[in-house]
Amino acid sequence: MAQIDEEIENQTGLERIRRMHETMRWLLDRMLASAPGTHKVDFFRRRPPAGGRQICCGGLIVGSKSLIVVGAGMGGLSAACYARLSGFDVKVFEAHNLPGGMCTSWKRSGYTFDGSIHHLAGCHPASPIYGMWEELGAMPRELVFSDHLTQVEDPDGRTVTVYTDLNRLEDHLQELFPADGRWIRQYTSALNRMVPHDLLELPLTGYGGLLQHATVLPTLLRWGRVTMRAAAEKLTDPFFKAAFPVFQYAWPDIPALIHLNLLAQCVGRNYAFPVGGSLPFAQSIAARFADLGGEIAYGARVTQILIERGRAAGVVLEDGSEHRADAVISNAFERKTTFDLLGGAHMDKALRARMAEPQDNINMGTHICLGVDRDLTDEPHALVLLLEEPVQLADQMIDRLPIELFGQDPSLAPEGKGVIKVLLNASYRFWRDLHDDRAAYADAKAELAQRVAELLDRRFPGLCAQVEVADVATPVTTERFTGNERAYGVAQGFDPGVIFSRPRSSQEIRRLFWVGQSAGGAGIPGCAAQGRGAVKLVCKELGTRFGGRKL
Ligand SMILES: Cc1cc2nc3c(=O)[nH]c(=O)nc-3n(C[C@H](O)[C@H](O)[C@H](O)COP(=O)(O)OP(=O)(O)OC[C@H]3O[C@@H](n4cnc5c(N)ncnc54)[C@H](O)[C@@H]3O)c2cc1C
Repeated sequence: MAQIDEEIENQTGLERIRRMHETMRWLLDRMLASAPGTHKVDFFRRRPPAGGRQICCGGLIVGSKSLIVVGAGMGGLSAACYARLSGFDVKVFEAHNLPGGMCTSWKRSGYTFDGSIHHLAGCHPASPIYGMWEELGAMPRELVFSDHLTQVEDPDGRTVTVYTDLNRLEDHLQELFPADGRWIRQYTSALNRMVPHDLLELPLTGYGGLLQHATVLPTLLRWGRVTMRAAAEKLTDPFFKAAFPVFQYAWPDIPALIHLNLLAQCVGRNYAFPVGGSLPFAQSIAARFADLGGEIAYGARVTQILIERGRAAGVVLEDGSEHRADAVISNAFERKTTFDLLGGAHMDKALRARMAEPQDNINMGTHICLGVDRDLTDEPHALVLLLEEPVQLADQMIDRLPIELFGQDPSLAPEGKGVIKVLLNASYRFWRDLHDDRAAYADAKAELAQRVAELLDRRFPGLCAQVEVADVATPVTTERFTGNERAYGVAQGFDPGVIFSRPRSSQEIRRLFWVGQSAGGAGIPGCAAQGRGAVKLVCKELGTRFGGRKL
């Protein structure tokens, strides 16, 4: 007792006030935590949050709501910004030392290799997605609108370019494939009809938005029912028949409607490439969050989501620290949220069904990136080489080589040089097993880069000798940096559920939402819309006004 008295004696006036404040805060936190429906307390807050219901009491603000976001990928960053706009205290915990998750790029010896964006949706100011990007601080920005979607070449040197000007495209196709004239007219007029109808807006416009597309329903049904490969069966020219199925990212088994939507949006200057690539795009949203007063804790891996009385109550980090909040949004890989962070408990029927063992073959799972001493400014930005005969590249037998060339964005390479990337599907298991033997894993990556460079050399003579940097990112690399085991998703089939990109939840837990690509978000805009949607649901549950604009 005497010792405590002595301590108090030695305190300055300010220290005494601070100690009193801490004691009162501790007491009130305990009282409110035990009373259902009450919220976190913050004393002596200088700047009250932008929205949110607050009760003021003698200078004390009681009732500001709090949210924890696990992961600063697209879904998490968007949720964090919208939660701040809605007046929440927001904590974002990100395991990596950068924002963006898979929406990323990395530098090697002066070259920037991009891990994600081919096409960013919502680049036209009339698009509701553009409105969301504006709110998230990602637009306006410098964009590249290309005059073509891709170019396909066969071993005999036949070439077809998919122009983003419809008249030019129709003339080009008619000239190359006159026997398929009628089919070409149907194709280009369907594209023309699709220009004002971006289906990627549906996560923002919802079922009401569907009505706006009623006028193109016959087009949606006709092209939504067939895959790229099946649509090409009607073609007579053998080269056109081989080339059409790979017009869209060399994915022959997706519904042809996905291609029509994407090309039509390039025609309408709504999809583009953001200068600087994916990481600066993600960083602009992280910067917006900082402007809104939010803070991301980097190098902070969440190991557990706390559930109390059927509600998400906070998280525990790898370092053992516990952080509490009124609600939690997880942007971590869906299976990891479910099994690692929740320990496999609290699964409802729908969640259990989704958690079946995932398929192994991943879309665009291996990135082979080359920095080359070669000017690529005048090359097409996307190219598919149809190979004379199939070749084995690591775990994949391929009959075509999909190539991205980044000459249209000079900021990604030293002057006069360029970046080329080949994306291959991949078996997660193949790379994961190989990774156990580090030397074999490194050899497999080096051999893959060498084989790809040799294949490219046939189209770009001398290229092998021009390679200055080769970098191979496998599904294990993606998992290491983002926790995501399946990157762009499994290659088999198409999940129509992604059309609306709704946040996911379990009926067994309140105030917890899953967002992100693994939880059904459609690409970058879909995941961001999901983050926005999750905040709307949290607001509804906590009785707070959602602070985002109506888009
Ligand atoms: C090759 C490729 C090309 C693509 N091209 C396009 C394109 O052209 N256009 C387009 O729109 N989309 C494209 N995408 C898709 C797009 O990149 C993704 O849909 C999107 O980036 C996924 O965001 P997400 O919200 O799922 O978050 P993720 O990217 O999965 O990020 C999750 C974040 O959470 C963090 N995290 C995970 N677990 C924890 C934990 N326990 N604790 C703390 N933090 C954690 C991770 O570190 C990561 O930062 C492409 C993807 C790939 C792979």
